Amino acid sequence: MSESRTYDVITLGAGAAGLFFAAEAGRRGKRVVVIDHAKKIGEKIRISGGGRCNFTNIHTKPENFLSQNPKFAISALRGFTPQDFIGRVEKAGIAWHEKKLGQLFCDDSAQQIIDMLVDDCRAQGVVIRMETAVEKVSRDGEIYHVSTDAGTFTAPALVVATGGKSIPKIGATGLGYQLAEQFGLDIIEPRPALVPLTFSGDVLEMTKGLAGVSVEARVSADPETQFGKRKAKRRTEFSEGFLFTHRGLSGPSILQISSYWREGGSVTVNLSPEKSVYDALRQRRAAGGKVEVHTALGEVLPKRLATSLAASEGWRGNLADWSDAKIDALAQRVHGWAVKPAGSEGYRTAEVTLGGVDTNGLNSRTMEANSVPGLYFIGEVVDVTGWLGGYNFQWAWASGFAAAQAV
Ligand SMILES: Cc1cc2nc3c(=O)[nH]c(=O)nc-3n(C[C@H](O)[C@H](O)[C@H](O)COP(=O)(O)OP(=O)(O)OC[C@H]3O[C@@H](n4cnc5c(N)ncnc54)[C@H](O)[C@@H]3O)c2cc1C
Repeated sequence: MSESRTYDVITLGAGAAGLFFAAEAGRRGKRVVVIDHAKKIGEKIRISGGGRCNFTNIHTKPENFLSQNPKFAISALRGFTPQDFIGRVEKAGIAWHEKKLGQLFCDDSAQQIIDMLVDDCRAQGVVIRMETAVEKVSRDGEIYHVSTDAGTFTAPALVVATGGKSIPKIGATGLGYQLAEQFGLDIIEPRPALVPLTFSGDVLEMTKGLAGVSVEARVSADPETQFGKRKAKRRTEFSEGFLFTHRGLSGPSILQISSYWREGGSVTVNLSPEKSVYDALRQRRAAGGKVEVHTALGEVLPKRLATSLAASEGWRGNLADWSDAKIDALAQRVHGWAVKPAGSEGYRTAEVTLGGVDTNGLNSRTMEANSVPGLYFIGEVVDVTGWLGGYNFQWAWASGFAAAQAV
C-alpha cells in the first residue's frame, strides 16, 4: 500500500549503525524512520562472531582502523567508547565474556544484541520499515525525498547506513556508494577485506593437502605493496590462528593481513613464532639417534605440515647428517614462509568492505557531508575499516552515536 510520510530523519539501513543511530536520535526527541530492503532485521549482527556477536573490543584505538585518513575516526571513537556500549549491554541484561585480545562476545546469542537495538528503537518511537525497496533519493531545497515501493518518505535529514558490499546474499548492496556519488562525494575504491586468501599452482596443491591444519602464526604483508605503505612506519603483522583450506589460507591472522595485502604482493608467515626451529632441531640432533628431518620438524609443527613442507622443500635424510648451516636455512624458511596469493575469496565471504565514502568529504564530529547539509554517512559505508575483533561494530556504534547528537 502506498503512503506518504514526513519525519525528522530518514535512515537507510537497519543494520548495526542504522539501528543504533535511530534509537539515539529517537532518545533526543527526533521522529525517525528506518528503511531496509531485507526481510530480516540485523542479519549481519546475527551471523557475527560465530553467532555470538563480538560486539566491541576493549582495546579500541584509532590505530585499529584502516582509512585513507587515519585521524578521521578519533573524534567519534572518543565520543562513544567500548565502555559506553558495555553499559548498554549490561543495562539490557545481556551476559558477556572476553574471549581473547579484548574481544567481547555475548554468552548466549547475537540475537540478544539485535533485540536490544530493536527494543530501544521501539521505546523511542522509531518506525522500522523492512522489505521496503528504495527506488530513488532526491533533495529538494532542504528536504530529502526517498521514494520506495511503499511510498515516499520525506525529512530534512538523511542518514545513510547501508553498510558495505560484503555478503550480498544477506542484503549488501552498493546503494550507499551510489548515493555518495549522486551528491558529489568521492569514494575510496571499495574492496573485500577480512577475507580468506586464495592460491594457485604448487601452493594451492599444498594447502589443499593440508586443509584443516591450523597453527598459531605471525603473518605480515609485503611492505612494498601493502595498503597505506606511505604512512606505514613498520611492517604490519598479526599473531593469531592460521588455517590451511581447500582454496588457500584463512584463520584470524590471514583475515587480518588480507586488509593490508594488495594484488602482486606476498604474505610472509612465521609458522613457529614462539619456538626457535633452529634451536629445537639442534637440540634434537644433539640428543643423538637416527631421526628423519621431517619427523624432527614434526615435533615443532603439526606432523602433516612438517611432512608436507619437507616434501615440497626437499628436506630429506637423517638429521644427524645436517650441518648447522643447513638447519639454519630450514629454520629461516619455517620462520619466513613467503607466499604470493592469487586473490581473495571476495565479497562472498569477506567480513567487511575496505574503502567507501571518502572521509575528506565528511565532518569527523558529526558524520555530515561537508558540502550537503542534512546528509550523513555512518558505519561501514564510510572509509573506516576495523581490524577483526569487535572493532567494526564499535565503529558502527560510535559513528551512529556521533550522527545522532548532530541531526
Ligand atoms: C560473517 C561476518 C561476521 C562478522 N563478525 C563481526 C564481529 O563479530 N564483530 C565486529 O565488530 N564486526 C563483525 N562483522 C562486521 C560487521 O558485521 C559490520 O562491520 C557491521 O555490521 C557494519 O554495520 P553497518 O550498519 O554499517 O552495516 P550492516 O550491518 O551491513 O547493515 C546495512 C543494512 O543496510 C541494508 N541495505 C543495504 N543495501 C540496501 C538498499 N539498497 N536498500 C535498503 N537497505 C539496504 C542491509 O540490508 C543491512 O540491513 C562481521 C561481518 C560478517 C559478514
